[in-house]
Amino acid sequence: MRISRALFRMSATPAAVVRTPERAEELRTSLAEIRARVQQAASANASANRQPTLVAVSKYKPASDILECYEDGQRNFGENYVQELVDKAAQLPADIRWHFIGTFQTNKSKILASIPNLYAVQTVGSVKGADALSKQLTTRTTPLNVLLQVNTSGEGAKSGLPPLTSSPAPEDAELVQLARHIVSSCPHLHLQGLMTIGSLTESLHVTVKPNEDFEKLKQTRDLLEEALAAEKGKWGEDGRLLLSMGMSSDFEAALRTGSDIVRVGTGIFGSRPKKEEVKSAAS
Ligand SMILES: *Cc1c(COP(=O)(O)O)cnc(C)c1O
Repeated sequence: MRISRALFRMSATPAAVVRTPERAEELRTSLAEIRARVQQAASANASANRQPTLVAVSKYKPASDILECYEDGQRNFGENYVQELVDKAAQLPADIRWHFIGTFQTNKSKILASIPNLYAVQTVGSVKGADALSKQLTTRTTPLNVLLQVNTSGEGAKSGLPPLTSSPAPEDAELVQLARHIVSSCPHLHLQGLMTIGSLTESLHVTVKPNEDFEKLKQTRDLLEEALAAEKGKWGEDGRLLLSMGMSSDFEAALRTGSDIVRVGTGIFGSRPKKEEVKSAAS
């Protein structure tokens, strides 16, 4: 017991694979609960015609936690930090679908592109970034899925492009230009959808009121699809751009608004250390 606790402490850098029956049970229970809530909320949205994807956000959590979820059938995992993702991908099963959901920096394109089972980059926000990524992906046999990050809440601290609000969407809107650029000029990227974080004002309460940031992303999606109508077939899944929205505190509201991809961390893995704590533990 003492040994495993010591190893867990070390695993702030998520290298050590330490598995205990207690942790396995804890993860199975929370994963089952989140899955049930995802199903329930998705079935409340009559217009949903596809199963939502649950991305388990495993940042700062050890590879052993990911493996427990994997063995329980979970395949989609999300990570925020490039080096952490690279390290984990190297030691975990090759059929995991990794979603990069952290701030995307152009100079990290090469290392991101080197992960063979990287499934999607959800945080693309510039032509420069898209070009850099596409250029690094020449050895992949399938294009990499990308989602464009939209700053629906307008908060300065959040990345992403402004949402679209008027029909037809202005041709010079950054989001329209970036989407067109990817579809026409980035052969190694597949424009899969839009992602947002949104404001977390309702985060501590379960609420039935649809989050207005989620509505904004949905409207933005509809307007962008209209703008890209001539290129239909070259983007999205089954003719639709997917919406990645909803986290532990608000994924049910997001699903009721029509989210296709929810990103849940704390709800599955429990609370995380703060970024600063991880840094000081590693130094
Ligand atoms: C950390 C993170 C999540 C998961 O957040 P929780 O509140 O722990 O569910 C989802 N999306 C992004 C972009 C994140 O950075």
